[in-house]
Amino acid sequence: MNSQSITQKQLTKNLINIQEQITQAAQNCMRSATDITLIAVSKTQTAETIRLAYELGQRAFGENYVQEAKQKKQSLNDLDIEWHFIGPIQTNKTRIIAEQFDWVHSVDREKIALRLSNQRPENLPPLNICLQVNIDDESTKSGVSLNELPTLITKVSTLPNLKLRGLMTIPSKKESYEDQLIAFKLLADAKAPFMDTLSMGMSNDLSAAIVAGSTLVRIGTAIFGKRHVQ
Ligand SMILES: *Cc1c(COP(=O)(O)O)cnc(C)c1O
Repeated sequence: MNSQSITQKQLTKNLINIQEQITQAAQNCMRSATDITLIAVSKTQTAETIRLAYELGQRAFGENYVQEAKQKKQSLNDLDIEWHFIGPIQTNKTRIIAEQFDWVHSVDREKIALRLSNQRPENLPPLNICLQVNIDDESTKSGVSLNELPTLITKVSTLPNLKLRGLMTIPSKKESYEDQLIAFKLLADAKAPFMDTLSMGMSNDLSAAIVAGSTLVRIGTAIFGKRHVQ
């Protein structure tokens, strides 16, 4: 966890700044900024910092580590937060994820989807799902390939306790805005007509993602500052 917390003043400034970037990118492509949801990626940030962001109006938060998220959630259970799981999923963590989160962005195989559906508690609404796509075919990265995506879509869309909302990607680092745009457009083209969500865009490629059609941007560093090692 961060030992040095961000000040309220800095956090306010960063959130306004990001909202301005979202509005500007949306205007550039004649989209409405209200169609784009900002997810504040709060991995390694303390519960106090999340509470501060909440008090400034932020409602959706993204977490990568199951245990860390569960602990923070416990001390924030008085707040009406929408929780997004965006990290790699180990098989033995699916139950906690199914119990603790509203959205999961990082589903990339059938086995994980099946477990999440089976383990989603009855009293909760279906779990919102994005399939993570390995858009640049990087051997080290998680995500289903574009080739295997149609089969996975068919399988996941039938699972009763999941709601397949869309696609997510983390492209490789690109040298230019144009290259960022090409990668994000590939994902946009792969979206099935029934889907309403494209989870793409981070601190460094947010504008290209929005121009390509992103509906959920996942921003960490530009909101909370540089992450410290856990
Ligand atoms: C950490 C992380 C982010 C946020 O990245 P920043 O570059 O800090 O904005 C977004 N998406 C995923 C999947 C992440 O792991």
